[in-house]
Amino acid sequence: MPETWVSAVADAIGKFGWSVSDAHESAIVVELTADASRVLQADDDERFVVLGWAEDTEGPHYGLSRDGIQVPILCLLGPDTDPAAIAARVDRLMRTGQPEARLVRHAIPYAALGSRCVCPTAHPCLGIVPNAHCPEHGDRQAPTMEWHWEENCGTVAAR
Ligand SMILES: [Zn+2]
Ligand SMILES: [Zn+2]
Repeated sequence: MPETWVSAVADAIGKFGWSVSDAHESAIVVELTADASRVLQADDDERFVVLGWAEDTEGPHYGLSRDGIQVPILCLLGPDTDPAAIAARVDRLMRTGQPEARLVRHAIPYAALGSRCVCPTAHPCLGIVPNAHCPEHGDRQAPTMEWHWEENCGTVAAR
């Protein structure tokens, strides 16, 4: 892709607060934070999400990487080529583990959040995106919660 497009995507990702450690003609390398590693279930030595693209695919792909170069498993980020739309998907991916709004479920727990909660907060409903490893809301706890998809969040929040 052209250099201007690459730097526009990298800038847009940076505006969400993520650190782009490298951006060149075939890839953009974004540094994982501790929270992003947790939601993406990265291994301890996987420190980057790499965004790549090829002429004949439907949109950018992404994958976890140890060195910012090798990406063992690639997944489709989404069918966008617009830098702002791609950056929004990257931000959602890093916060929730999923690039698609319709794949992200928000939960509103019936009990107040405790101090051990590690789940990212969901906006605008002020619920959470449950983290599988959260000691309060993780897979093993199965607390009672009300669920909705991220793409419906606005209507829930308006109630
Ligand atoms: Zn939690
Ligand atoms: Zn919501």
